[in-house]
This record gives sequence, C-alpha cells and structure tokens, in this order.
Amino acid sequence: MLSTMQDVPLLVSRILQHGMTIHGSSQVSTWTGEPEPQRRSFAEIGTRTHRLAHALRDELGVRQDERVATLMWNNAEHVEAYFAIPSMGAVLHTLNLRLPPEQLVFIVNHAADRVVFVNGSLLPLLVPLLPHLPTVEHVIVSGPGDRSGLEALPVRVHDYEDLIADRPTAYPWPELDERQAAAMCYTSGTTGDPKGVVYSHRSIYLHSMQVNMTESMGLTGRDTTLVVVPQFHVNAWGLPHATFMTGVNMLMPDRFLQPGPLAEMIEREKPSHAAAVPTIWQGLLAEVTANPRDLSSMKQVTIGGSACPPALMEAYDRLGVRLCHAWGMTETSPLGTMAHPPAGLTAEEEWPYRLTQGRFPAGVEARLVGPGGDVLPWDGASAGELEVRGNWIAAAYYNGDGAEPLRPEDKFSADGWLKTGDVGVISADGYLTLTDRAKDVIKSGGEWISSVELENALMAHPDVAEAAVVAVPDEKWGERPLATVVLKPGSTVDYDALRAFLGETIAKWQLPERWTVIDAVPKTSVGKFDKKVIRKQYADGALEVTTLG
Ligand code: ADP
Repeated sequence: MLSTMQDVPLLVSRILQHGMTIHGSSQVSTWTGEPEPQRRSFAEIGTRTHRLAHALRDELGVRQDERVATLMWNNAEHVEAYFAIPSMGAVLHTLNLRLPPEQLVFIVNHAADRVVFVNGSLLPLLVPLLPHLPTVEHVIVSGPGDRSGLEALPVRVHDYEDLIADRPTAYPWPELDERQAAAMCYTSGTTGDPKGVVYSHRSIYLHSMQVNMTESMGLTGRDTTLVVVPQFHVNAWGLPHATFMTGVNMLMPDRFLQPGPLAEMIEREKPSHAAAVPTIWQGLLAEVTANPRDLSSMKQVTIGGSACPPALMEAYDRLGVRLCHAWGMTETSPLGTMAHPPAGLTAEEEWPYRLTQGRFPAGVEARLVGPGGDVLPWDGASAGELEVRGNWIAAAYYNGDGAEPLRPEDKFSADGWLKTGDVGVISADGYLTLTDRAKDVIKSGGEWISSVELENALMAHPDVAEAAVVAVPDEKWGERPLATVVLKPGSTVDYDALRAFLGETIAKWQLPERWTVIDAVPKTSVGKFDKKVIRKQYADGALEVTTLG
C-alpha cells in the first residue's frame, strides 16, 4: 500500500527560498580587514542569487548539469554562488585553492568546468592555470584584483557586480529531480589523488537537517557561526545550507585566516559557534596565549577533519570554549559523528566521551569490518575498518575514480557500504573511537600501533607544540614509529625525557626509538598532518634522526 503523503522534491532552491523569506533579516558578515565587516542579509543574498542565476543563464548560457566552479574564500558572494548554481540546475564545483597547481588543473579538467567564479585576490593563482583549462569559457571576478593577465586568454571575463546588476530579481527555479547533482567536491588527497564526490539536492537537504539537530550542531537564529572551515572543504561542513534553514548568522573570514585576525573577529563579533580543523585551533591557542583575547562567546566549537588532541580540548575548556569533536569525510557530506556525551553525567564522566569521535546520527548506519571481512561487535575493544551507509554518503566517485589507480571495491563494499579507510572501535552505546587511518597505522611485528595515540600523548607534554608520528621501515619489526616533534618557543629537546613521558600512558613496546625535531609539521591543503611528506623526507634522508637505545 502506498502512503497518502505529498512528495515535494528536496531541492537547494527550497532551502534558499526559506532562508531569504522566513529568515530574511539574518546576516552574513564578511571580514574585510576594515573596521566594519561587509554585512548582507539573507534577503539581500537571496535577491542577488536570483540575479546571478539570470546572469548565468541569460548571459553565459549555463544549462542544467553544467559545472560552474568557484575558486573563492568564505564570503557572501560565495554563498550566493552556493545557492544560485544548484538552484538553477547546474552543478556547483568548489575548488580547493590550496591544492598544488597540477591537481587543480586535473580537477577542473576532470569535472569539465565551463565557468570559474573567482575572488580577485586569487587571480594570481588562476591566471597561470587557464591555458591548461580548455573547457573553461567564462571567468567571473568578484572583488578587487589584478586582471591584466586575463586579457590575452581565450576566455570571457565578467565583473561579478556588473554581471548581476539590472538583472530580474525573480528566477523561475526549475522543479528538478531531487536526485540530480547539485554540487561536487574532490577529496583533498591526503591519501592519494583527489576523487570527485557529487552531492544531490536530496543529500544536501537531508544533511542540512541533520546538521541543525541538537545532537549535531544544533544552532538557531540566535546564534552566529564563525565558518573557518573553507567552503571548498566539504561545503564548509554543510553550514551555508544548514544556516539558511534555521536563520543562523554566518561570520565569514574571507582571506583573513591567520590567528591574529581570527582572534580579533571573535572578540569583536562574538560568534556563539565556530567550525574548523585542529590546526586552526592550535594556531589560535598560541596566539591568545601570547596576546590574551576573550574567546568565551563561543559556547560550542565543532572540531574535526583530523583527531582533536585531548590537550587542545583541555586548553580551550580553560578559556571557556567547549570543543565538540566530529568525524566526517568528503564522501559523507561530511557529518558522520559528533561527540555529545550522554545525558546526566558529571564533567569528569563526560570527558572520555568528549575524546571519542562521537555518536552516529539516525541517518548514518555504521559497521566495523575485521581483516578477514567479518563484521565485528560494538564492544569498545574489537578494532576494524569503519564502513558507513546512508542518504548523504557517497555510493561512487564521479566518472571513475580520479587519477589514482583505485578499484571501486577498495572504497565501496559489494553490498553498498562506503569503506572509510579509518580504523577504530565502537562502544556498546555507539561511540566511535578512531585509532588511525588504515594507511597511517604502524604495523610493528604483527601488532598495530596507533600513530594518533602517540601524537596525542606527545602533544600533552608542556614543551611540545605539535607532533606527528609515521611508520618507517624496520628490519626487525617491519615498521616502527618515527616521532617528529615541533617544540614550543624557548624549549629544548630531551628525547629520553619525552620517551619517559610517553611511557607513563603507552605500552613500552609501542614507544618510538626514532626521534627528530622539525620546524613545523607539513600540512595538507585542508590543514591535516601530511604524513606522505614526512615519510618521503625520511626515505630521502632529509631528516636528522636520533635513535634511542
Ligand atoms: P582527505 O581524505 O583527502 O583527507 P577528507 O577531508 O575527506 O579528505 O578526510 C576525511 C578523513 O579525515 C577521514 O577519513 C578521517 O581519516 C579524517 N578525520 C576526519 N575527522 C576526524 C576526526 N574527528 N578524528 C580523526 N580523523 C578524522
């Protein structure tokens, strides 16, 4: 028997229409470096979005399914692109501006982008690439920047404000199939070449509803969220869409992502929430330790993208800022888990829950698969690869797998689950604790050593600013850990003392023999530890390694 219920397609245009009307007075504030940010209401953004869609169709001839790329910081114009492009039936393709040029070229060509929307400040990055991007016909420039190099190229160049001026303010949004492509994002390539994930209108709509649930980010129109996570990093974790559903104000840092301006932004604009990877919070902590600022408006911060070191969470607790750990991937839209402890616990009892990656929401099913392919129990002890499925989880990659030779069965199980490549345990009450990425775990004499556990323990030492641990080949054990340590200013290194410190919490056989001090941990384009680079430096003999007896 069929239901008697209506079936209204879940479309991005519906999120937009809701936000620009019901929450029309909510604001997007974009940091400009001037005393006052640029402020634009959701209603104004909505009107400009309609104009932009008219310009894209009437002037540039953009048709359904065509890819329109953005090479932009987080700002109001990028939000307008976020809504106009999918709402008209085209596909928003956010480009990661920190990728190496050859990867950007690969991605634009792989997606066959026809239009690139760019912030003027990023033209020096785009212009040298354009001769290698044969599918790109139009470049839309937003904001000031040197446009001179564009003249000689076979592309049409448009100024964003000129392009949308005098356009009609009511675009007839098409009634699309909700399963149609709305946006695409390539993985940042931490473990290989970028692969394209294509989100549907339906997946974005459902994901946004989950982001808004109290068990996830749970924000309301009384909140302001500081969106540090880039709009090119898994749709800024869904925030631009989610906020238009609930009227949450957005504070956008644009290109002012350094710790100093971020601290100033927080003190002046008093956001109640923020979202960013651990690297950002590490940098901000160092900044406010040197130049104290009041960060306490941030009642809750969503931290994810890589494991949050417990010492970092503790330090922010002392500043009155609660970090809430979340796990996700480009392939999971990204919301996979969030670490809200169960009800009725004391702060002390909550602590171990806060350190986990968190619980799965109703829309994400999870299972752990052991090395032999067997599904493992949720007992907090059986470690396996995490597999997930749900309506905002990828089922495949765009047009094959990207440049990396990778068989589909490496990432998707025969029965339709995503193989995350993350290894961990799940407790009986459903909390996930990741011990490592499958590719980073150290396989020593048939046993596994968690690089993340060693890093977290090292980063709790008062002399250590950051630490990354990688597997290096070892004749006797196959692999052993190499500890690379960044010291806090004014500290001197004592490897024996560091090893003894680790020995207080970690089994002796897991303690690294090989140690080195480095200036900074190399980071990927989205601020994660780039262990590929450290492994290569070690293999090339570029690190000065001390081996303890
Ligand atoms: P890439 O795979 O290129 O790094 P993603 O941003 O999609 O790009 O990365 C997803 C991966 O990031 C996850 O598979 C996991 O390994 C890691 N990750 C994300 N959040 C967390 C977290 N809270 N704790 C540990 N690892 C995390």
